[in-house]
Amino acid sequence: MAQAGDSTPSPSPQIYFSMKNSPASPLRPTADKQRPPEQRLPHWLTVLNREVIACPRCPRLVAYREQVAREKRRAYRDHDYWGKPVPGFGDPAARVLVMGLAPGAHGSNRTGRPFTGDASGKFMFPVLYETGFANQPNATDRNDGLRLKDLYITAAVRCAPPANKPTPAELANCAPFLDREIEGLGKVKVVVALGKIGFDAYLNYLKRRALPPNEQRSVSKRYPFKHGASYRLPDGKVLLASYHPSNQNTQTGKLTREMFVAIFKEAARLADE
Ligand code: SF4
Repeated sequence: MAQAGDSTPSPSPQIYFSMKNSPASPLRPTADKQRPPEQRLPHWLTVLNREVIACPRCPRLVAYREQVAREKRRAYRDHDYWGKPVPGFGDPAARVLVMGLAPGAHGSNRTGRPFTGDASGKFMFPVLYETGFANQPNATDRNDGLRLKDLYITAAVRCAPPANKPTPAELANCAPFLDREIEGLGKVKVVVALGKIGFDAYLNYLKRRALPPNEQRSVSKRYPFKHGASYRLPDGKVLLASYHPSNQNTQTGKLTREMFVAIFKEAARLADE
């Protein structure tokens, strides 16, 4: 199974990478060629990921992601941070799309893969494993052997934002990548939105791509965000809302493991409909 994000171009020159504790595999230009054919990315996704990784469109986020990568958290001081936009990851033939918010400053901004190496991923990947979407419950770095099946992970913005809060302009800047990704992932039937920002990002995609102007204004009222709510949308997909598996939600019990398992079981059921 091809995994998006497994093959990416050379790093931008502004961050130096070494082999030690490095998110190394995406930096090997030969990596994708060495994979068996069934594990290679489709050309459109390779091109898209290359553009994402080189993107300088949001000055505030570029400065922040690189500053975090330089200064590092004490626990990761021996790690070479990714420090660039984080491309999507998963099965390009997926029927389930997970829409996240943005890379975590010391999670995927460090490892280069969505939800990898942070608390949200620690909560989510065991659930994906239990529900059959992942081959293993842990996600520590890009060489950990993780494969997703029938599921692809993307985000509303691809650079770590300060305080996890992208601005409306940054969300708009990143939207063209999202549009191309969603359109390329032609088998998606169910979108699992993690949190309100991810939920709104999909509704905004819908407005841009699938709704006439006279229907665009009422979208938020027609599809209110509520954990567990699912909506059949005019583009034929089902939007399934979940609280984000952030520390804030999981440690307070707002989102429990059982609730999250139920979301992905429902996503699997809807994909089979
Ligand atoms: S958030 Fe998106 S548009 Fe902005 S710099 Fe990162 S990849 Fe580019």
